[in-house]
Amino acid sequence: MDFNRLVLKVASRCNLNCSYCFMYNLGDSTFRNQPKFMKESMIPTIIERVANYLKEYPQEVFTFTFHGGEPLLIDKSYFGKFISQAATLKEQFPDTTFDYNIQTNGVLIDEDWAAVLKKWRIFPGVSLDGTKKAHDMYRVDHKENGSYDDVIKGLKLLKRKLGFVSVISVMNIDETAETTYKHLTDISSDYVNFLLPDYTHDSFPYESKAMGNWLIELYDLWIADANRPVIPFLNGLTNAILGSSKSKRHEAHALVIETNGDIEAIDSLKGCGEGFTKTNMNIFTHDFKEIVKLPLGKLYFEDSTEKLCTKCLECPVVDICKGGRLVHRHKQENGFNNPSVYCEDMIMIISHIQNKMMELVPSMYDDSISKMDATEIIDYLNQLDMSDIEETYKKDLEFFSVQPV
Ligand code: SF4
Ligand code: SF4
Repeated sequence: MDFNRLVLKVASRCNLNCSYCFMYNLGDSTFRNQPKFMKESMIPTIIERVANYLKEYPQEVFTFTFHGGEPLLIDKSYFGKFISQAATLKEQFPDTTFDYNIQTNGVLIDEDWAAVLKKWRIFPGVSLDGTKKAHDMYRVDHKENGSYDDVIKGLKLLKRKLGFVSVISVMNIDETAETTYKHLTDISSDYVNFLLPDYTHDSFPYESKAMGNWLIELYDLWIADANRPVIPFLNGLTNAILGSSKSKRHEAHALVIETNGDIEAIDSLKGCGEGFTKTNMNIFTHDFKEIVKLPLGKLYFEDSTEKLCTKCLECPVVDICKGGRLVHRHKQENGFNNPSVYCEDMIMIISHIQNKMMELVPSMYDDSISKMDATEIIDYLNQLDMSDIEETYKKDLEFFSVQPV
């Protein structure tokens, strides 16, 4: 068992009603049975369960992500109470770094919220899907009004108060990558966490290669931009291509605690059907390690990396793509035994970055490189001492390292 992120659903309702929302609009309506907010009385139990887990499975970094629904709907005092009590974890596990972040739709950000985030060093990721047109296409409130203007107001305030802007952006191919990239950089984003939309094989709406072309356009803009923001999706692929990524999985393993204490698998799997993420385990009765005894836990913690479909196992870029995220592999007919719905797109963007890498490594570095074919060059790059490359070509390569959230 290996997870190092705990997603705390501090609020189970949301002030928005985004059409693609996996909590409310992708086939799972179990949120209706949840209390609206996580009670403060749950904090000591959550901390005890984390301590029990870390005793058995030590982690270098352990992240708490405040999430929802919309986490800014809960009382502001909750965050200070949680983080003060969680300080005992640092005393017990001095070698572990404990991080806090929050994923918010940004609509409610104001001076007071900025002060709370700053005081408790909670890193905010604000959802913004590109331009007003792209954003308001999906991210609407319960009266169908777009949320863009409020989000931009919140982001400007965070830039002023915290000094940076970090956005989470679901890729939207209805807008060109150029329009999206330009917009996100125009609003001074320092960190853009682009996400592929959460579709399964039963709901996938795109034409073949549409996302691949979009990603290539995005990559070319990004790599040509001297002031490029960190884009974990592209940084991560580049690291994997250069052989400097240690991760075996396409997505980080995380566990979710619902507002009533239920322990669940990640939200994106809600798109696989009603109640799919449910474990019938709760922090008041179960330790985290018990989840691996369940078929869902086994699938999530063991099979998701080791049991890829035949096509993925035979794929030349499997070490980079890693088979895609679980939700993208799902089909009602045969579960997760499929390549990603974005398979063709991933092959396109990975080959594109590989070619770009070959251009970036000057042939003078080693004359023999000019005689190699693409696969041999990637193998060659993987064997190189990266510290040497980074020293020699620091300027070109400095942006490849993924910065922690
Ligand atoms: S803001 Fe997030 S939780 Fe709320 S409706 Fe939109 S996607 Fe769902
Ligand atoms: S999803 Fe496609 S690109 Fe990714 S590993 Fe599987 S076969 Fe390869």
